[in-house]
Amino acid sequence: MTQTEIADLIVTNAVVRTMDPAQPSAEAFAVAGGKLLAVGSAADVEAYKGATTRIVDLDGQAVMPGLMDVHNHHGIAGLHNVFELKFPDTASVDDICTAVQGYIAEHPDAEWVHGSIWGSQLLGELSTSGPLKQLDAISGDKKVILTDDSHHNRFANTAAMRAAGIEDDTPNPPSGGVIVRDEDGRPTGLLFEGAGVMVSKAAAKADPMTTDKAAACSADAIKTMHAVGVTAFLDAGATLHTLNGLKELDDRGELKIWASSCMLINDHVFGAEQLGEELFPHREVTRSAHHRPDFAKIFLDGVPMSYTGAFLEPYLPSESHGCAHKGHTTMPYAELEHWLLHCAAKGINVKVHCCGDASVRFVLDAVAKVRAAGHADTLFHVAHGQFVNPDDIKRFRELGVVADISPPLWFPSILVEAMEAVRPAEDIARIAPNRSLAESGAIISGGSDWPVMPDPNPWTGIAGLITRADPTGQHPGQLAPDQAISIDQALAAYTINTARALGIEAFTGSLTVGKSADFVVLDRDPYGVAPEKLASTVVRETWFEGEKVYTKA
Ligand SMILES: [Zn+2]
Repeated sequence: MTQTEIADLIVTNAVVRTMDPAQPSAEAFAVAGGKLLAVGSAADVEAYKGATTRIVDLDGQAVMPGLMDVHNHHGIAGLHNVFELKFPDTASVDDICTAVQGYIAEHPDAEWVHGSIWGSQLLGELSTSGPLKQLDAISGDKKVILTDDSHHNRFANTAAMRAAGIEDDTPNPPSGGVIVRDEDGRPTGLLFEGAGVMVSKAAAKADPMTTDKAAACSADAIKTMHAVGVTAFLDAGATLHTLNGLKELDDRGELKIWASSCMLINDHVFGAEQLGEELFPHREVTRSAHHRPDFAKIFLDGVPMSYTGAFLEPYLPSESHGCAHKGHTTMPYAELEHWLLHCAAKGINVKVHCCGDASVRFVLDAVAKVRAAGHADTLFHVAHGQFVNPDDIKRFRELGVVADISPPLWFPSILVEAMEAVRPAEDIARIAPNRSLAESGAIISGGSDWPVMPDPNPWTGIAGLITRADPTGQHPGQLAPDQAISIDQALAAYTINTARALGIEAFTGSLTVGKSADFVVLDRDPYGVAPEKLASTVVRETWFEGEKVYTKA
């Protein structure tokens, strides 16, 4: 056999887990032009060695494909990290006011103070008049807007509410959302969903986002992703600035990750200026070698904890919502079907936020119409989907709908406790039906929902998929343990399955000849340790297109 191709790079003496069922493991691989030239035994790969080939001997360390995140909000994560006041979600109202006061002292020219994140445990206190008085007293005419841990709600001071036109007699926004009031009917500063967006929009008007700023946010977030081994992601709620920022980074030669983004069709969270039809024309303009704005995003409901997830059966009885409350979707079925058909006709894939099982069923019904209309290839994601009616499980595979299982809510946690408080026990008993979905042949694809969840590290989710137990050990027990999946299925959810979910499996997602050389070097072989040991896996190196983009210090 004659070898004409010479490798730029040979990685050898490794335990290579390829995530390619045709050749699940190997010792070495060769890379040329950023792509895999050969994968196999050390001797096989040696044949591609030339005078200029760089040899990386890993001394038995484990290697697998770069990890993938099917659902994050990387631009917001970068924005929080680079440009905003940060305080921990355990902060008290006093702590938060002290932090805001400090920020104002350090940034005397800032008209607006953006801060995050306050924990949902403050909701009761923030519904009273005291905290607003306290915040107003230290902020004066500076406008302050603070985001909560669900990223759906805000706490704003009086100056910020005034700037958004929120006065004592302002009604709740027709788009959905609540201006929470005290017993005298005055706003308390606590703003749910659309009401918070009113203030976000006023802030954006006063202090506009720019392409350079968006690029800086993306660059910071990508640095964080590289450090946890992520080499591909889908931003689940991109604004025009996000799209422009990613394109700008790629033009500068700095986008060293496969970035996909969802153009927002509706918005109950972000305060985006352009939506749907206004964003779609920017799709081709912001496309680049590493950026694919190939998805749209629809929020079809809210979250169970605030009784805004849309369910087939009622919530547990409550004082606030009575006995028959099932939640409701953000749009009627006909509008959803219209959007899915419209996007499919334009070649745009769609991710739909569905927290309740009624929303999930709406999407499956609408996708059935899209498939019947002849659109076989459009990708559809049910995002979150912790609650799926058993009758609907098999429809994911039948209709080719991806289960975007994000964030990791398949083991005991504070968020799961919050859902247990509002949903019947039989719903909780079959929460996050990952095994049923996987066994039915559906694609389950892992995501972080970072920064809604504080950490984009995939290993917590991977470990929990297998054990259904809290990898941090803070919350005892297992959650619906019959829905545990295997290590193969769990790793696939964060690699090849997500590549398929993003429509990029032809060139990444597994260590297969011809694909991009996107890989991570790990401190342990995921197949060689107990599942409980997976959560603390450390990524030592991350490589993208054959180039090392991260080394652990
Ligand atoms: Zn999200």
